[in-house]
Amino acid sequence: MARLQLVFYPDVILKKRCADITTLDQEIADLVRDMSETMYLENGIGLAAPQVARNIRLVTLDVEPQEGGKSLMHLINPVIADHHGKTTYEEGCLSFPGITAEVKRKNKIHVVAFDVDGNELDFEADGLLSICIQHELDHLNGVTFVDRLTPLAKKMVLREYGQIRRETVEDEQDDIVRAILERDAGA
Ligand code: ZN
Repeated sequence: MARLQLVFYPDVILKKRCADITTLDQEIADLVRDMSETMYLENGIGLAAPQVARNIRLVTLDVEPQEGGKSLMHLINPVIADHHGKTTYEEGCLSFPGITAEVKRKNKIHVVAFDVDGNELDFEADGLLSICIQHELDHLNGVTFVDRLTPLAKKMVLREYGQIRRETVEDEQDDIVRAILERDAGA
């Protein structure tokens, strides 16, 4: 078991489209185990592989972490086949420590994916699970929750994030991080 290093915005790893997983080997099994451990330790309810620097289509979720792992789920190559209705939710992200924003999402989704044993999963999700799957699936396409905001809301939330990062990141990378944040915020 290992706690994996998280990737923080504005790292370019978070902007890449991830590749399909074609074989389920020991490396994937180890990654799945380490991603679950990392998600629980970081108090998250979802984690996508690019958030731990792996650009492959794998997400880990548990929207009821207080249930001791009963709702733990891993989705490999997930696809949203259909959706109904709309909803909004105040979302956060382990790659954006310190900020949240209200994001518009689909309400009910039909998901097709594979589990870690290679079996096909085909199910409907609503509520927090639906929102969480949409958030994590976006990560696999290089999209983060701030990209779902209006340009004005994105600018405001990235400005707040930039301030938090400036207070917490104090090394030679700081100027680069600041420049990217300012560019993304349209400042
Ligand atoms: Zn996220």
